[in-house]
Amino acid sequence: MKMILLGAPGVGKGTQAKFICEKLGIPQISTGDMLREAVKAGTSLGKKVKVVMDSGALVSDEVIIDLVKERITQGDCRNGYLFDGFPRTIPQAQALIDQRIDIQCVIEIAIPDEEIISRLSGRRVHVDSGRVYHITYSPPKVPGIDDETGEELIQRHDDKEETIVERMAVYRKQTEPLVTFYKELCNQEGSKLNYYSIDGTGKSGVIRDKIFSILGNFPI
Ligand code: AMP
Repeated sequence: MKMILLGAPGVGKGTQAKFICEKLGIPQISTGDMLREAVKAGTSLGKKVKVVMDSGALVSDEVIIDLVKERITQGDCRNGYLFDGFPRTIPQAQALIDQRIDIQCVIEIAIPDEEIISRLSGRRVHVDSGRVYHITYSPPKVPGIDDETGEELIQRHDDKEETIVERMAVYRKQTEPLVTFYKELCNQEGSKLNYYSIDGTGKSGVIRDKIFSILGNFPI
């Protein structure tokens, strides 16, 4: 199964990706996580992308497409994968088509803008594991501390309020056109692609169940 989770920053793609990947036994390919790892490791890629990421803008299509092309050649991608945060532009989506990568399922998660702002500004993460908390909606047992390791949680640079507005603008301009792009692709005759849009407001378990019921339509 090859799938895409589509949606603005903060709609819960990462959280849902973990549920889906565990259920289907496929890897989560999060370009954001891959780039953050490169920044943390101080690689040449990391040095190149850090400033762009911190500003809330998008990394260039060439860099992202190369990163993804390389990732999907790895053995764990044999039975499929879930893209989380990719594609984010029409050229990225077109690159998948050019590579003859057949995506079977696109799930769009949608929530209102006000909620996006509150979710992103309250988000705290444990860097090493990628565990995500929210200071109000899913707080850690001890404020600022990861439940499992006892290590400190951080706020991502790009989750600071001044950057959130920029990220949402970038989403509207560069990524939201993918909604129409994939809907049209889905409606083309003979298309193998299925497009679903779900309301992402509410508890993560409720959203997970909606997604699992969609996945029930696929032979797995
Ligand atoms: P995310 O964790 O998915 O919100 O990604 C964090 C940041 O990484 C984004 O704001 C971009 O700067 C960069 N990034 C992640 N995925 C992509 C992508 N597919 N295309 C361009 N930039 C990306």
